[in-house]
Amino acid sequence: MADKRDYYEVLGVSKTASDDEIKKAYRKLAKQYHPDLNPGDKVAEEKFKEANEAYEVLSDSEKKARYDQYGHAGVDPNFGAGGGGFGGFGGFGDAFDLGDIFGSIFGGFGGGRQQNPNAPRKGSTVTTNLTISFEEAAKGCKKTVRISRIDTCSECGGSGCKKGTSAETCKTCGGSGHVNVQQRTPFGVMSTTRQCSTCGGRGKIIKNPCSKCRGTGFESKAATVDVEIPAGIDDRQALHVRGGGNKGVNGGPTGDLRVNINVRPHPFFERDGFDVWCDFTVTFAQAALGDTLYVPTLDGKVKYELPAGTQPGEVFRFRNRGIQQLGGRGRGDQFVRIIVDVPKGLNAQQKDLLKKFNDSLPNKPKNNIDDGKTVGEEKKGFFDKFKL
Ligand SMILES: [Zn+2]
Ligand SMILES: [Zn+2]
Repeated sequence: MADKRDYYEVLGVSKTASDDEIKKAYRKLAKQYHPDLNPGDKVAEEKFKEANEAYEVLSDSEKKARYDQYGHAGVDPNFGAGGGGFGGFGGFGDAFDLGDIFGSIFGGFGGGRQQNPNAPRKGSTVTTNLTISFEEAAKGCKKTVRISRIDTCSECGGSGCKKGTSAETCKTCGGSGHVNVQQRTPFGVMSTTRQCSTCGGRGKIIKNPCSKCRGTGFESKAATVDVEIPAGIDDRQALHVRGGGNKGVNGGPTGDLRVNINVRPHPFFERDGFDVWCDFTVTFAQAALGDTLYVPTLDGKVKYELPAGTQPGEVFRFRNRGIQQLGGRGRGDQFVRIIVDVPKGLNAQQKDLLKKFNDSLPNKPKNNIDDGKTVGEEKKGFFDKFKL
């Protein structure tokens, strides 16, 4: 862990970089070091892994915040009881206040005077973030997420009482949870029912609270949840796992787990709805003469006969090679944009061949003629290009 490089350094961005800058930097590196483009290159493979790891943290606002505060230790899955896999609260076992959590699940407990504190209530939703690859999103996958959630206290089994003790019936209300109050008013004596203040309406009093849960009957536990990710899910969509969240109160149903999906950008595929776009670079000669191309798709390489005379920017389509639509209604298409690579740094012989070739062309573009109306001369230098 000590020799791990700084994630910002890995991606070559500043600490104040925007989400977009981080994404761009990641894509550039992923393209450079992608195993498909560097077969058998161990160094490239390591760099690719390193970039993925850095992106996974810096693209996730919660992990990024922990990384900024605690460094690698804050997001390392092997560190401490919590670990990097923990989204939502609970990245650090001790960093959150139990009182806050119970405050949220017992919401309105103190304030809502007439609410029956013994009524069953559904547990609250636990939220976590999960980063998956472009391919995993396109084809669906199974993942295990590590979360921290509220469960029945393992020490007292949910009673909230110290071992060997039990809750006592409240003497003030006799266990009913409410008391009759007589008030003298100008209209006579009025009798109203109020929640018992001694027991808070529960009818029971815990004299010796369980030390682990402080009498609440709940504790925060680490858990793993298997999540089935449907094919076609997109970046920033969320999955709901019914019953994967916090334990309900008074026998109420368990809350849900919300998994926010973050899809890592692909080095050469770009998503548009359920379609996939990619650029494919060919040489000038390939475009002019036509050639057999082997184009990467989500299913592996696909053979394509590039027609002679293909123009730069021309797009061709592979039907049904795109992303599986959510709900199983077929697949999108893949669009391939042809980029023609204009050769640079030609040697004398190559220049000579090209000149001869150019002279042999019968139909040259007719817009490049001095018609006597030329107003001056512009030279594009290296620095002028960058001023544009
Ligand atoms: Zn307990
Ligand atoms: Zn009472």
